[in-house]
Amino acid sequence: MSHVFPRQIAAPPVKAVSGEGCYLIDDSGKWYFDGSGGAAVSCLGHGDAAVIKAIQDQAGQLAFAHTGFFTSEPAEKLADLLIAQAPGDLDRVYFVSGGSEAVEAALKLARQYHLERGAPDRRHIIARRQSYHGNTLGALATGGNAWRRAQFAPILIDVSHIAPCYEYVEKDADETAFDYGQRAAQELEDEILRLGPDTVMAFVAEPVVGATMGAVPAVEGYFKRIREICDTYGVLLILDEVMCGMGRTGHLFACEADGVTPDILCIAKGLGAGYQPIGAMLCTDAIYQALAAGSGFFQHGHTYIGHPVACAAGVAVVDAILSRGLLPRVNEMSQKLRGALHDAFGQHPNIGDIRGRGLFLGMEFVADRADKTPFAPGLNIAGRFKAAAFEAGLICYPMRGTRDGQYGDHVLLAPPFIMSDDQ
Ligand code: PLP
Repeated sequence: MSHVFPRQIAAPPVKAVSGEGCYLIDDSGKWYFDGSGGAAVSCLGHGDAAVIKAIQDQAGQLAFAHTGFFTSEPAEKLADLLIAQAPGDLDRVYFVSGGSEAVEAALKLARQYHLERGAPDRRHIIARRQSYHGNTLGALATGGNAWRRAQFAPILIDVSHIAPCYEYVEKDADETAFDYGQRAAQELEDEILRLGPDTVMAFVAEPVVGATMGAVPAVEGYFKRIREICDTYGVLLILDEVMCGMGRTGHLFACEADGVTPDILCIAKGLGAGYQPIGAMLCTDAIYQALAAGSGFFQHGHTYIGHPVACAAGVAVVDAILSRGLLPRVNEMSQKLRGALHDAFGQHPNIGDIRGRGLFLGMEFVADRADKTPFAPGLNIAGRFKAAAFEAGLICYPMRGTRDGQYGDHVLLAPPFIMSDDQ
């Protein structure tokens, strides 16, 4: 009997024993194509020699030095690398161990920034329905996915949720995509005005929505309008690129395609590429300077922040993405995979939409293509799809639609950037 407490208690997991390129291998010798990189994590595939060597070298040199006393060479190097590539005036990097931690840090930084600038009433967070920002309590409260929140609702902080930008379902037939995006963004201004502009702390959104919607980017102009609204009312824009960042969409940072720079940017997953648990929160110099000129202290931290071995892995991963030409490769493979999905499923009566950016693609399942009717939740389409694909040796990331009346089951594909044409 296993003493490990698994996530899926009712269906204990298979034991993985090794990884090679785009494949994982279990203890019976069966190979699985890692079509979702776990959950958009394994961007370099498995067994990358350069990343492994960087980890080994750093562990031998210096495994741990508490950030209450020390910085380290890998942390400095990784921050320099990220800031050199980051858009706009993002200028400082705060390292954490994963995505939820990055979001928690972002929320606390936003609150502390307003406090230190003399705006203690700014406390409200606005996010979007059908979003996922992590499983710790602050991040879970920020996410809008009803299914993930339901059991914990009584212990979550109050967060306002507006509509996501979801062209496939919510754009009216007689509306242009641009006009729809402006209409969707207007919900933010309406909510800020309803709450009282001087009480709103931050708006949080994923540039391309991952786990809860299946790779849904916003339409052109949506995030530019969101940026304008945030600026008008002094609300900080926090973009959560934990899943869609680090090259996954063909840009190192997904927001580059939307032409906006957030005040705070969260990354994780692809930053460690599965080799080390690491995430980061990037912020503008203006935010950093507000704390520097005020308390001189960020009232937040975890023991393992800025871990030297994790940062060394991050340096090797970012270096691999940039120096091996993986961003153009993502764009090239995106065209091929998207074309293959359209060839195979474009006319399928139960595939309503094929969408996404880069190697971050999703397909939405529908009972009826014509009116986009979702499958009844009791059919458990996502769960059955996951099980059938796994049996056939394919790892993908299907997710049930809670549909709050509107959103359906879908599957997310996020294969390693090194995937070959045949694969
Ligand atoms: N934010 C987004 C957009 C995510 O997709 C996830 C995880 O899937 C998280 C945050 C939480 O990240 P982690 O699971 O590393 O805590």
